[in-house]
Amino acid sequence: MADIVLDKVSKKFPDGTTAVRDVDLEIADGEFVILVGPSGCGKSTTLNMIAGLEDISSGELRIGGERVNDKAPRDRDIAMVFQSYALYPNMTVRENMAFPLRLAKLDRATIDQKVDQAAKVLELTSLLDRKPANLSGGQRQRVAMGRAIVRQPKAFLMDEPLSNLDAKLRVQMRTVVSRLQKQLGTTTVYVTHDQTEAMTLGDRVVIMRGGAIQQVGPPQELYDHPNNLFVAGFIGSPSMNFLPATVEEGTLRTSLGEVPIGDRIRRELEGADASRELILGIRPEHFEDAELIDEETRSRGIVFEAPVDIVESMGSDKYVYFTIEGERATAAELEELAADAGANELAGGSNLVTRLSAESAVAEGQ
Ligand code: ATP
Repeated sequence: MADIVLDKVSKKFPDGTTAVRDVDLEIADGEFVILVGPSGCGKSTTLNMIAGLEDISSGELRIGGERVNDKAPRDRDIAMVFQSYALYPNMTVRENMAFPLRLAKLDRATIDQKVDQAAKVLELTSLLDRKPANLSGGQRQRVAMGRAIVRQPKAFLMDEPLSNLDAKLRVQMRTVVSRLQKQLGTTTVYVTHDQTEAMTLGDRVVIMRGGAIQQVGPPQELYDHPNNLFVAGFIGSPSMNFLPATVEEGTLRTSLGEVPIGDRIRRELEGADASRELILGIRPEHFEDAELIDEETRSRGIVFEAPVDIVESMGSDKYVYFTIEGERATAAELEELAADAGANELAGGSNLVTRLSAESAVAEGQ
């Protein structure tokens, strides 16, 4: 078993900075967990504590049931993959991948067999005799992964392994990492600041901010049921739109208008009264062009008119930027509206409707 358990783990640096505070996290054997959050939120420090590269100030870390707080990195049986590949330039791909096995004093035949096997999985077989300088960024990162997997460690720890790759390669490598993790079934903790990577890669995502965990859950759950405004705004691209609201007698009131609230939101707001300030979160894809929907759908949302500031076309995706109460808002996938506005009505008013009652999340004010 190689589950990883963080029990009230904190890290205070000598200069007084508390980078991680009271983190509780249970990562199951074989699970793929992503640590994500803005720069400085403590994700690398958390990973480094698991690796043993940073001491733990307080709390307990267990790997496979064993307390490892004071265990040296090399005795933890985990492999790390960094953003900066960290390959030996003078060694061939084969020698780089064989290195940890040579250190472990395995015999030549076993080393060759393990390297060949890893190279096959990572499609590196034809590159085994090359030096890192003669490889592309994506190939180098695959070698770095190969060096991690040959050892068959208890866990992989990956710190932004794809950040040095260009956008297209990053998407391709996401598939490689994902497939590899599934194939090997090795517990993996992966750090990224990129929420798209977090959403597409992991079984569960841990969202951090200011050294503390904000929410842990499968990607879709975080998207559909964010715990707080930070998570709601962090997950999803373009970001969720926020609008102040109040609830009174089963009606949600906003500056755009009001709408009866549906059963689900009513349940979530159990006990809500007029004096409670709420923030209404509306995903960009939950706006519709009011001209194009039927009366029934209209009646379940707020119909409003907003001047369109700009339309951004990203090929298949179209984003319409408009202004609500002086705040910039974004709607996605408004095909017809985007086409019109793009042609000649950029400054004109356009009717939009929110699908409030059906889809949107309502969070309590901060
Ligand atoms: P990034 O995405 O920018 O790498 P991160 O989420 O990985 O950020 P950490 O590198 O874990 O963040 O840093 C968390 C906090 O701890 C930051 O405020 C950082 O400035 C601070 N920190 C990191 N290392 C040290 C150190 N050696 N001494 C003091 N403070 C540190």
